[in-house]
Amino acid sequence: MKPAPFAYHRPTTLAEALETLAGESYAKVLAGGQSLVPLLSMRIAAPHALVDINAIPGLDTIEVSEAGVRVGALVRHADLLAHPDVRRVQPLVPEALAHVAHATIRNRGTTVGSIVHADAAAEMPVVLSLLGGSVEAASTAGTRTIPAGDLFLGPLESALRPDEIATSAFFPALPAGAGVAFEEISRRQGDYALAGVAVVVHGESVRAGFVSVSDVPTVVDLTGVPDDELGEAALAHLDPAEDIHATADYRAQLVRTLVRRVVTKAREAAA
Ligand SMILES: Cc1cc2nc3c(=O)[nH]c(=O)nc-3n(C[C@H](O)[C@H](O)[C@H](O)COP(=O)(O)OP(=O)(O)OC[C@H]3O[C@@H](n4cnc5c(N)ncnc54)[C@H](O)[C@@H]3O)c2cc1C
Repeated sequence: MKPAPFAYHRPTTLAEALETLAGESYAKVLAGGQSLVPLLSMRIAAPHALVDINAIPGLDTIEVSEAGVRVGALVRHADLLAHPDVRRVQPLVPEALAHVAHATIRNRGTTVGSIVHADAAAEMPVVLSLLGGSVEAASTAGTRTIPAGDLFLGPLESALRPDEIATSAFFPALPAGAGVAFEEISRRQGDYALAGVAVVVHGESVRAGFVSVSDVPTVVDLTGVPDDELGEAALAHLDPAEDIHATADYRAQLVRTLVRRVVTKAREAAA
């Protein structure tokens, strides 16, 4: 199908983009287009206008400090994955990014776009949640920081307002002595996961984030849970769904298997 007609804006400053967004009744921000364009083509979304942010300078930077990794709104998954210093500061980011889609999609799709798209089947919303990261949002009214814990409201629904542009996402650094691991199972390499698990182990603390097994990105505290009970403890907080790719029971079994495997790997990484 072809998209419904829309006005197309390509502002060259953030201020102009925010003014344009505020002046439209139903507009969508266009970043990499890897999720939005299919939605337009299938007419699942039919905004009156697109505000393409790709000509705005300064949104494509990756800042790595001892505090963490700040990722601008135009940083493509592939550039974040290839950055030489990100793994040292926060290894869970590249571990999970390696599972995001196929190379051609990673070359164009943005990590910030993936986060605000708020798909519970996507890796980076869960990673941001698990790490306690945040998103910077700008509008004509000013800027605000949205903690990941407040960001994901429902399926494909984030707390970003229609007049806001997410300008960056921040992934806090991994504390000394902590370990991380990420694994997922998908039908083919690069497809969305049938189920995926990210884990951070720090001392006694064990926290896990789950991909594709709930309506929203879900983080579960598994501190103190014996290894042979990790799966059932996690599943008490999850709601695996049945679809054409997997039954709910199969997804639950993937959670049981993956969570034990990933906790073991994260402990080894921490040692
Ligand atoms: C075949 C295929 C397979 C894929 N597989 C995976 C996968 O396995 N895992 C995965 O995580 N992703 C996957 N993706 C999605 C991919 O990661 C996208 O890059 C990502 O979902 C969205 O990033 P984008 O920059 O393309 O956003 P866009 O498509 O441009 O936008 C997506 C949504 O976010 C909004 N948005 C984007 N940026 C901003 C911003 N800065 N401020 C405000 N709103 C914004 C848009 O308005 C839109 O609603 C896949 C995509 C395809 C086509």
